[in-house]
Amino acid sequence: MTDYYSILGLQKGASIEEIKKAYKKLAKQHHPDISKDPNAEKKFKEIVEAYQVLSDPEKKQNYDNYGDAYKNFQGYQQGFGQGMDFDFEDIFNQFGFDFGGGFGDLFGSRKREKKDFGKNIKIDLTINFEEAVFGVEKNISYERIQKCSFCKGTGAENSRENVCNVCNGRGVEIRQQRTPFGIFQSQSTCRKCKGTGKIPEKNCSNCQGSGFETKTNKIKIKIPAGINIGNHLRLKEKGHEGKDGVGDLYIVIFVEPHDIFKRDEEDIYAEIPISFSESALGATVEVPTLKGTVELKIPAGTQTGTIFRLKKKGIKVLNSNLVGDEYIKVIIETPKKLSKKQKELLEQLKKEDEFNKKRKSIFKKIFENF
Ligand SMILES: [Zn+2]
Ligand SMILES: [Zn+2]
Repeated sequence: MTDYYSILGLQKGASIEEIKKAYKKLAKQHHPDISKDPNAEKKFKEIVEAYQVLSDPEKKQNYDNYGDAYKNFQGYQQGFGQGMDFDFEDIFNQFGFDFGGGFGDLFGSRKREKKDFGKNIKIDLTINFEEAVFGVEKNISYERIQKCSFCKGTGAENSRENVCNVCNGRGVEIRQQRTPFGIFQSQSTCRKCKGTGKIPEKNCSNCQGSGFETKTNKIKIKIPAGINIGNHLRLKEKGHEGKDGVGDLYIVIFVEPHDIFKRDEEDIYAEIPISFSESALGATVEVPTLKGTVELKIPAGTQTGTIFRLKKKGIKVLNSNLVGDEYIKVIIETPKKLSKKQKELLEQLKKEDEFNKKRKSIFKKIFENF
């Protein structure tokens, strides 16, 4: 795992002020234009990357919780962020331009209507390790704003209508505006009747005239094999319903850890204990894979910590036919309890090993160097 905190010389949990301070100092120190170190550029890039993650509250949180897998969340953040349904006016409004007043009218253009395409919904879904590996179908239910089932979105109790009292049935509002250039008249769609010129005689009693209600939506979703923590599914038009469209539903995947396997992208890792005699003499041992156990041949003289690769016993790569590998690390376990027979055999072995002599010769080499 990349340790962004130690790159910046910080402890996990450092505050944003500490992160900024460390970044400023290190970025100056390792800037390729300043530093004489031949590795300065590489180091500088690491510092910038660490800062980019740790200074962004959402990325930092994902990094703190999921380590390198924080990267999986990124596509989702970009796709879902505030930029999703912005329109041109919003950008200018952010910078303090006022499009609403006479500015647009000066050029004879009418202010654009604000469209309501429905908001996106985000749901977090936790699945277990096997479900992520092999894929799964899930029933989910969530609250969703949708067009009122009684009035079908019109907001009216029945079909009886009155003439709109704001625009007198014309559907447009005329507004006068004083500007340094004189008085300007502007026309816009009537806010009360939304341009229809009519208003219902009585509001819908189910939605109080809003045209919308909140309902529980139940759907079945298919989660593809190989999905990983932070990946998301996007279900088009399963989000909130608006007047002019429907938002999307985003399902962000979280995966429970497994008792035996650890995952890194499409590869999995497991540790298995073996005895000293198995490691010294060689043995065939049963090891777990995602699809039951297989036999692994351990050659004579295997050291503790040796890693064996089981080709294509890992996880299917999402949306592909490629499959990762499994890595088995063998750990030699020293027995804590021995039978009488084992003890006798080991005593004999101990004598035979003459390990004291061996150790002495190793030490001698070390001390000669002083
Ligand atoms: Zn209604
Ligand atoms: Zn009106």
